[in-house]
Amino acid sequence: MSVQQATNVKPINCLHFINGKHMPSLNGKTFDNINPATGEIMGTVAEGGKEEVDLAVQAARRALNGPWGQMTLNDRSKMIRRIGDLILERKDEFAALESLDTGKPVWLSSSVDIARSAYNFHFFADYMISMGTEAYQQDNVAINYAIRRPVGVVGLINPWNLPLLLLTWKLAPALAAGNTAVMKPAEWTPMTATLLTEVIRDAGVPDGVVNLVHGFGPNSAGAAISEHPDIDAITFTGETKTGTAIMQAAAKTLKKLSYELGGKNPNIIFADADLDEVVETTIKSSFINQGEVCLCGSRVYVERPAYEKFLEKFVAKTKELVIGDPFDPNTKVGAMIGKEHFERVSEYIQIAKDEGGTILTGGKRPEGLDKGYYLEPTIITGLNRNARCVREEIFGPVVTVQPFDTEEEVIAQANDTHYGLSASLWTNDLRRAHRVAAKLEAGIIWVNTWFLRDLRTPFGGMKQSGIGREGGMHSFEFYSELTNICIKL
Ligand code: NAD
Repeated sequence: MSVQQATNVKPINCLHFINGKHMPSLNGKTFDNINPATGEIMGTVAEGGKEEVDLAVQAARRALNGPWGQMTLNDRSKMIRRIGDLILERKDEFAALESLDTGKPVWLSSSVDIARSAYNFHFFADYMISMGTEAYQQDNVAINYAIRRPVGVVGLINPWNLPLLLLTWKLAPALAAGNTAVMKPAEWTPMTATLLTEVIRDAGVPDGVVNLVHGFGPNSAGAAISEHPDIDAITFTGETKTGTAIMQAAAKTLKKLSYELGGKNPNIIFADADLDEVVETTIKSSFINQGEVCLCGSRVYVERPAYEKFLEKFVAKTKELVIGDPFDPNTKVGAMIGKEHFERVSEYIQIAKDEGGTILTGGKRPEGLDKGYYLEPTIITGLNRNARCVREEIFGPVVTVQPFDTEEEVIAQANDTHYGLSASLWTNDLRRAHRVAAKLEAGIIWVNTWFLRDLRTPFGGMKQSGIGREGGMHSFEFYSELTNICIKL
């Protein structure tokens, strides 16, 4: 029995959540929510804009100056922990809605997206009570100490690929630092954010602390958040070009910004690495979540002596991946997010062919899956470093593989991009691992692994892959303001 049947979860219609109440848009506007696994309409979503964002910001400001601002650190921590507990209590429901919205396999939603979402609250609930601030005694002249305060009302703008995981990655530390929030999920994936508001209410979070406005980006709820004069900071995850638009809108009121943007991440394999281990992880770093993860290693570089052997094993394992119904427990690769994205990624496969690339496997819709947006995991070789598929973020189940001869050459190729989010490198040579890692231009570098996260560590991108870091103390640096108090002795 599939998880969907087991939990009997039905898609939900999505309303805004403003000042503790679910509500439709003031003008009653809605848009359709499409199931990517079938292409069919499965519900409606309230379409918010400036008016709804205004109401949400007013509620958030009142809550900041009211009960939330007055709550003790311990009580706030307990409440944040409770949100995590309630997510776990409703884990199957969350997982089913996440898979209905995104098309990803439900085992993945359950074991990664939802489990990590709950952990985001548990982690920051613990972290917040262990922090101190700086103090300096300046001879017998003065004592300086810093106090930490919330930034204020924070706007959260989120993408569709890991909807609840990334939303809670921002919301949990924002609340832990004492802020109030106005959140906008991606228009493609509104359901788990909506369910989260029920959990937030049930956890006893005061009205107005967390608000949710659904809608689109440009000329819609996203733009209204970006330019709202009473929002103090924006944390955004999404495409690099959207980051530019938000920055322009936010510039007028000089908001604090934290950005997690696109990537075109290298996966560098030296010939001395254990190839079976490399292939097992490379399958994940290439195709998990249909390749729709900002951290996916979409440019694979293999040292020449291992190139043929690697390709043989990689192609064979890729062909074994079961593609299909997100609710079938055997499915490894589900449906892509929607028609537009499916067509965009398919176009890249055509571009690769036009630029002289060879498709070793994949490249088309799987046979028998006529409805929904399914694409076979695709491996492309024979492209040079200037090919568009090597340079541009595709954000689907598509990787390029290229051979290399020297360390210097592969470092130069890996860094030849305006992105700088993550990189993986595989070698059993300890010195080389340290040497190469220090030269790769990326915010996160994995050696002999991928996607292994410790939430205390800095997470973010260099170059056009982001601004700032989140995680542990770094999250608090963004979500709080420090004031230094100097007392003359
Ligand atoms: P997107 O930029 O199209 O949309 C993200 C969000 O921004 C959505 O909620 C959208 O409605 C909103 N938006 C769009 N235009 C806007 C505007 N002009 N003003 C305000 N809001 C606007 O991104 P996406 O397609 O949802 O997500 C995929 C992208 O996200 C990829 O580039 C991927 O690499 C990136 N991503 C990065 C990370 C990271 O941690 N660095 C994580 C996940 C995804």
